[in-house]
Amino acid sequence: MNEKVNKWIDEHLDEYIEDLKDFVSINSVQGSYEQGKPFGDGPFDALNFAIDLAAKYGFSVNNYNGYVGTADLDPALPRSLDMLAHCDVVPAGEGWTVTEPFNPIVKDGRIYGRGTSDDKGPLLCAMYAMRALKECGVPLKKGVRLIMGSDEETGSTDIEKYYAVEPEAEMTFSPDAEFPLINIEKGQFRGEISKSYEESKALPRLVSLEAGIALNAVPQKAVVTLEGLDMNLAEDVMNSVSEECGVECVQTGINEITITGVSAHASTPESGKNAGLAALMLVSRLPLAPCEQLDAVNAVLKLFPYGETDGKSLGIKMADEESKDLTCTLDLYHITTTELDVQFDSRTPVMANKENCEDVVTKSVQEAGLDFTSKGMVPPHRVPADSPFVKKLLGAYEAVTGLKGEAMAIGGGTYVHELKNGVAFGAVLPGIDTRMHGADEFFDLDNIVIATKVYAEAIIELCS
Ligand SMILES: [Zn+2]
Repeated sequence: MNEKVNKWIDEHLDEYIEDLKDFVSINSVQGSYEQGKPFGDGPFDALNFAIDLAAKYGFSVNNYNGYVGTADLDPALPRSLDMLAHCDVVPAGEGWTVTEPFNPIVKDGRIYGRGTSDDKGPLLCAMYAMRALKECGVPLKKGVRLIMGSDEETGSTDIEKYYAVEPEAEMTFSPDAEFPLINIEKGQFRGEISKSYEESKALPRLVSLEAGIALNAVPQKAVVTLEGLDMNLAEDVMNSVSEECGVECVQTGINEITITGVSAHASTPESGKNAGLAALMLVSRLPLAPCEQLDAVNAVLKLFPYGETDGKSLGIKMADEESKDLTCTLDLYHITTTELDVQFDSRTPVMANKENCEDVVTKSVQEAGLDFTSKGMVPPHRVPADSPFVKKLLGAYEAVTGLKGEAMAIGGGTYVHELKNGVAFGAVLPGIDTRMHGADEFFDLDNIVIATKVYAEAIIELCS
């Protein structure tokens, strides 16, 4: 490790904090398109702030039409390593207690504010690592570029524009996740299960069941509308479902029951409580008149029993050493008196393929008497864990932190999903929940110093 560089980083923490405060003060939630400002005022201002800051520190900068900015440590060197971070943030949301989301403060060794850890803080860690190497005069043979996007949170169309005109570097890491390193993003398999049937007028009956707002999120809320049912008869069933599923069932209208569970990202469905499945369970247990609609509900419930998030009943439970378990969650529900339509989101390990996954689900669903459609499987993203690139990054992490460096697989997509040799690398240390996307988002000052040192060390290892 380069002690001079590390000392420089320690001594510049205060300056870093001032820069981060200015950066976080810019509300860079996506706005509406304007000429020259593709994602609105906020992301535009934040992007310009970052570009100007990089220019002030002596880097050679470029602005790709308000989509992306770049800063090169030494443009005379052949481009080799890219660091990919972003200036936009998710909406502030409710529940901030330490400070207002765009009024960052330092308290108890942490800096609080929207974007402190996702991803303005990590972006500045990468920029300060470049600065440390430049100001300490560390000689490099290969070029380093910081790529600063402004639309990561709402679709990554920023880097699509960038990569349409610039080649991918030989190596890319994104400081937009956690340490140690993410080398695998599971594949994705989504499908729609449906059934049309004759309307049954027999009472009591289910009029509608609606749940879910996005295919990539476990539904938090479900609303069941009934007809002709004495609600006193529903009470016991509501209680049993509440108890068994750990959800809340409340009568919210003369014929309406609302179920509240816990939302979760579709890549980690085991941490949620699926209100939609609990609603199916409720419907299946209510004393309703038999009909085709009810048969379809029961068939779906057989394929997706409450609490099962590994695709077992669909026949696709599988796991491999590198990328671990397949996950599967039923997230969108639309049931009426004439049709049922539900959709699932599955995150698939590297071993999953058409034969052992898509074909199996197609068969399971059809055998249950339901119709199935899918756009097919999206392959996983994988950079080999034993590649010299990954090994050097993990080596830098181990040298600075003294912790064991290991490559990990996740079910969600990151900024590098489309890149051939891209991994996510930091900047948040393991075991810390910095409340990215939540209220009171923060970044530990110790973490800032460590991450900056890891990036500096990684650049030296990869580019000297
Ligand atoms: Zn991010």
